[in-house]
Amino acid sequence: MGATAFRTVQLTKTYGSGDTAVQALRGTDLILPAGEFTAILGPSGSGKSTLLNILGGLDRASSGQAWFEEHELTALSDAGLTRYRRDHVGFVFQFYNLVPSLTARENVSLVTEIASHPMRPEEALARVGLADRAEHFPAQLSGGEQQRVAIARAIAKRPSVLLCDEPTGALDSKTGVAVLEALTHVNTELGTTTVIITHNAIIQKIAHRVLLMADGRIVDEIVNPTRLKPSEVSW
Ligand code: ADP
Repeated sequence: MGATAFRTVQLTKTYGSGDTAVQALRGTDLILPAGEFTAILGPSGSGKSTLLNILGGLDRASSGQAWFEEHELTALSDAGLTRYRRDHVGFVFQFYNLVPSLTARENVSLVTEIASHPMRPEEALARVGLADRAEHFPAQLSGGEQQRVAIARAIAKRPSVLLCDEPTGALDSKTGVAVLEALTHVNTELGTTTVIITHNAIIQKIAHRVLLMADGRIVDEIVNPTRLKPSEVSW
């Protein structure tokens, strides 16, 4: 068996306390092999974002343990979590959060200027199929193109893992497929462990592994014997 990227044991997360406490995770166990493309599906409120945020070092568990490779995330200080995010994690969210006054290339440069072994912004944009859009401003790009700039920004520092929260949630099928093509291309070419959480059940067809969440737990896990290409799915 290959290396493991993420492992969690009985992870729980409770927001708030007393009568208003919400148990977002109720003992989540997972193992995600390095280099895989994993989709996490489940109804709204099932704990997908909470789990992704803990794996990405954006939030802390209430109990249980989470590891990234040999780093126990649940034992890190705030400074340690910040270092982990900076050195290892790229994030892609539903809304792209590009700086409107900067070009695509300049948006990617914001990250490459502070990373230790970045790729050139032009290379990051080429990897998501946007070599010819580098000098465009966000307002001159479609939603799908803006999301691909956000992916270029996330991968430019060569993260070990790319964590994506509903990356196609705001997109129609055609532009969403182009975003999925960019993500699968990065996963294949760079070997970046990719985790994507989604409402969109069709996305499970393109993943190596599918985790199904319900009520704060992983209730099913599927390893796809064959995968569809993004161009073979639509919604
Ligand atoms: P999903 O991503 O599957 O929609 P979430 O992880 O966002 O689920 O949420 C799981 C549960 O935790 C939901 O009941 C949600 O309302 C609650 N929750 C998420 N974030 C917070 C927060 N910051 N404060 C209080 N409750 C939260």
